[in-house]
Amino acid sequence: MAGGIEIKTQDEIAYMREASLIVYEVLEAMATAVAPGVTLEELDAIAERETVKRGAICAFKGLYGFPKAVCISVNEQVVHGIPTRRKLVEGDLVKLDYGVIKHGFYGDSARTVHVGKVSPEAARLVEETRLALEKGIAAMVPGNRISDIGTAIEGHVAPFGYGIVRDYVGHGIGKKLHEDPQVPNYGPALWSRGQPNPRLRPGMVLAIEPMINLGTHEVETLPDGWTVVTRDGKLSCHWEHTIAVTDDGPKVLSRP
Ligand code: MG
Ligand code: MG
Repeated sequence: MAGGIEIKTQDEIAYMREASLIVYEVLEAMATAVAPGVTLEELDAIAERETVKRGAICAFKGLYGFPKAVCISVNEQVVHGIPTRRKLVEGDLVKLDYGVIKHGFYGDSARTVHVGKVSPEAARLVEETRLALEKGIAAMVPGNRISDIGTAIEGHVAPFGYGIVRDYVGHGIGKKLHEDPQVPNYGPALWSRGQPNPRLRPGMVLAIEPMINLGTHEVETLPDGWTVVTRDGKLSCHWEHTIAVTDDGPKVLSRP
C-alpha cells in the first residue's frame, strides 16, 4: 500500500493484463457487430458469450445490482446505460463500457463507436476524447501526481469548449473494480476539498476514463436508477483503459 493505494506485484499485473486483454477482445467483438438495426441486447449477448468462451466472468453483471453484462449508453447517455431492445440507428454514438474478472482480478475499458456515418461534431468529440485519454495515460509516470492525469485531460479538451463530467471519475482497480484513488478527469482547481493527491508509484493500476460532453458538464440519472444522461441532452463520449504505472512508464493493459 502507498497512501491507501494498493501496489500490485508483477504477477498480479500479469493477471490484470490477462483480464484486460479479454475486455479488449470482447469490446472488439461488440464494436464489429455495431450497425444500424442491431439492438443493445444483441451486443450484450455477444459480450456474455465471448467472455464465457474465454473462461472469464462478466464483472458488471450483478455488481451493485446492475442487471446486464455491459453498460451501453447511446448519444446523450453518458454511462451506465442498461442494454434494451432499442435498435441502433445511423448516426448514433454508442458507448460500450465493459469489465471482466479473471484469476480474481478486474479489467475495465470503454470505447465510443460510430453507428454508420455520424455528424462531423460527433466524430470530433469522439476523436478528441480518445486523444485526451492518451494524454492522461502519458502523465502516468512515477513521481507525477494523480492530479497530473486530470490536468492533462482537461488541458486537451478545454480549447474545444467541451464539458468534462465531474460526478464520475476514474479509479484504482485490482481485486475490486473500484479501488482508491479516485482519478478526476480535470485539474485540482475543480476538485472537492480534501481530495487526496498522492504521487504515482510503480505497481499502481488505474482505470482512466474521461467522460466528455458536447455541451454542459452537468449530468442526471434517469428514473431507471442507472442511466446517466447529459442535463442538456447533448452528446457525450467515453473512453477508458486500465493502465499500470511501471518504472518504464505507463503500460496500457487493455489493448494489445
Ligand atoms: Mg468501465
Ligand atoms: Mg471504470
